[in-house]
Amino acid sequence: MDEKELETALRNGLLDKWGFENSHHLARPGVYYPSYLGMCIRKQFYIYTIGEKPSPETLAIFATGEGVHEAVAGALKRSIKVEGTEMITRLKVNEEVALSGRIDLLISDQLGEKYVVEVKSTSSIPEIPRYSHIMQLEIYLLAMGINTGFVLYWNKGNGEIKAFKATKSDEWKNKIMERSIMLDYFVRTGQAPPQEAYIEGRNWECDACSFLDSCKPGQ
Ligand code: SF4
Repeated sequence: MDEKELETALRNGLLDKWGFENSHHLARPGVYYPSYLGMCIRKQFYIYTIGEKPSPETLAIFATGEGVHEAVAGALKRSIKVEGTEMITRLKVNEEVALSGRIDLLISDQLGEKYVVEVKSTSSIPEIPRYSHIMQLEIYLLAMGINTGFVLYWNKGNGEIKAFKATKSDEWKNKIMERSIMLDYFVRTGQAPPQEAYIEGRNWECDACSFLDSCKPGQ
C-alpha cells in the first residue's frame, strides 16, 4: 500500500459510512430531517430526490460528530444531570409528513426543569445562532413537549464555548409546520423549489453547496 491508497481508503470508508447512515433519507417519503429544515429549500429538495453528495468538510464533521457529542455529554455529567443522549424524536406535522431526528442531550437543572441541548462543533462560533440550528432546536422542543433549550457551540480549535437559549413558541411552530408541508409538496411533485439561499443572498450557503451543478444559482 502506498500513501495514495491509504488516503483513498479513508475517503471511501467515510463515504461508505455516510451512505449507510443516510440511506433512509430517500427511503421514507414524508419523513424529513430537523437538522436540514432551516437550510435552503432547493438544497433539501435535491437531498431528498437525488441524494446528498457530501463535501470533504461535511464528511469530516459527520465522522467526528459522535465523538464531540460524547465528550460534551461526559463533561456535563460531572456537573449537572444528563437525562439522556442521542434520543430519537419524531414530530408529526400531519398524516403524511413528519420530522424525525436525534436529540444530542437532554439535561435538567436543580429544580428538575428539563432542557434540550443541540451541540454544534464549529471552527468559528457565530455572533448569533444560525437560523437552521434554532429551527432544529425548536423542532425538538415541540417533539418533546419541553419549553426551553440551548444551541451549544464548541470551537474544537481554540476551545471557545458559547450557548444560546431558545424558548418554544407558536411563531416557530407555525414556521416549522408550513415549511415542512411546503418541502413535502416539492419532493412529492418533483417540482424544484426556488433557489432560496441565492435569492436571499446567503452566498456562504451556495458556496458550500454540493448541488451547484444541478442548481446553477442565478440561472
Ligand atoms: S446552490 Fe445555493 S440556491 Fe442552489 S441549492 Fe445550493 S444553496 Fe440552494
